Amino acid sequence: MRRIYLDNNATTSIHPEVAEAIRPFLNGLYGNPSSIHFAGREVRATYDAARQSIAEMIAANTGEIVITSCGSEANNHAIKGIAGAAGDKKGHIITSTVEHPAVLNVCRHLETRGFAVTYIPVDGFGCVDPDDVRDAIRKDTILVSIMYANNETGTVMPIREITDAAHARGVPVHSDMVQALGKVKVDMKDLGVDLASFSGHKVYAPKGIGALYVRDGIVLDNLIHGGHQEGGRRAGTENVIGIVAFGKACEIAGKHAEEYAANMERLRKRLLDGILEKIDHVRLNGHPTARLPNTLNLSFEFVESESLLFSLDRKGIAVSSGSACSSGSDEPSHVLLAMGIPGAVCQSALRFSLGWGNTEDDVGCVLEVLPDIVGRLRAMSPLYRK
Ligand code: PLP
Repeated sequence: MRRIYLDNNATTSIHPEVAEAIRPFLNGLYGNPSSIHFAGREVRATYDAARQSIAEMIAANTGEIVITSCGSEANNHAIKGIAGAAGDKKGHIITSTVEHPAVLNVCRHLETRGFAVTYIPVDGFGCVDPDDVRDAIRKDTILVSIMYANNETGTVMPIREITDAAHARGVPVHSDMVQALGKVKVDMKDLGVDLASFSGHKVYAPKGIGALYVRDGIVLDNLIHGGHQEGGRRAGTENVIGIVAFGKACEIAGKHAEEYAANMERLRKRLLDGILEKIDHVRLNGHPTARLPNTLNLSFEFVESESLLFSLDRKGIAVSSGSACSSGSDEPSHVLLAMGIPGAVCQSALRFSLGWGNTEDDVGCVLEVLPDIVGRLRAMSPLYRK
């Protein structure tokens, strides 16, 4: 059976050039990059070049990159790091209601440790208003953490305006940019943030590698104490294979991102137009224009998204209902609920997230099978009247 993978916001395949780049490190090059003998030196050079590629991809300096084990660690490091640096004074953190659990649950944890947190609501498109951030800032605010692009809806936030509002009051800004990298331009100088999180497996590198951008001069407590690695910011013998892979993935994204984004956008539009033409009672979730090129979140009213997902899966088509982290749970998405979407409509939402390798044929195939599946499921629904 043909397999069509449309769940690239959950994870991506490993790009063949990435697989090629890490092959020598699975087969012969095993030195510890901190060792000064030949085995360490031969690894160090590629390792350093990979760090340079990651830095270049986001217009940062290599000294501003802290390698982590994943995007979740980067989010934890940023938020707990700023909280830790505040010491006994504690303080106030501003975030939004639509963040990934790797931000929301860190904030909830910090509330149990005496920090105050404001969760800024979003509008019907899932967007944070920079004025709301400005109004929420208090004398004791120590951090604003707002994501750049939402993993479920693809809505892109006005991060530059949010950063300007926070900086006007001297408050540093962290942004979860895990979903933005490789899909929209991510330039630390343009966006002006102080801390930003990234993850390798969302950009065609393997799982288990991420990065935190820490602007020069930002003071942050360590999450993992130990050796001198990562300039003393994050201990642990380096994940050489991971960083070489992430570096290669950034190099590829840097060269081809615009072309890939244009292709994903074209396919996403074709998918949306085709679905709207063939199926009624479909609602687009997320911002109509300020959105990632690859992400389409649609509610198919009167149908349970899990049933849709399983029916598509049986046809060899992988999509997601809610975020990957919450799939398996039948709770409606906190992101869609925060956008004011009624519970039943949230429960009928599917996320299609395209990747670099998707084709017209993939989209054509979905458009061929989806109307029948939706029609069959609706025919069983007591609520559906055509
Ligand atoms: N932030 C966002 C927006 C995500 O989509 C994800 C993963 O889905 C993460 C953070 C966590 O990244 P990781 O899986 O690398 O921990």
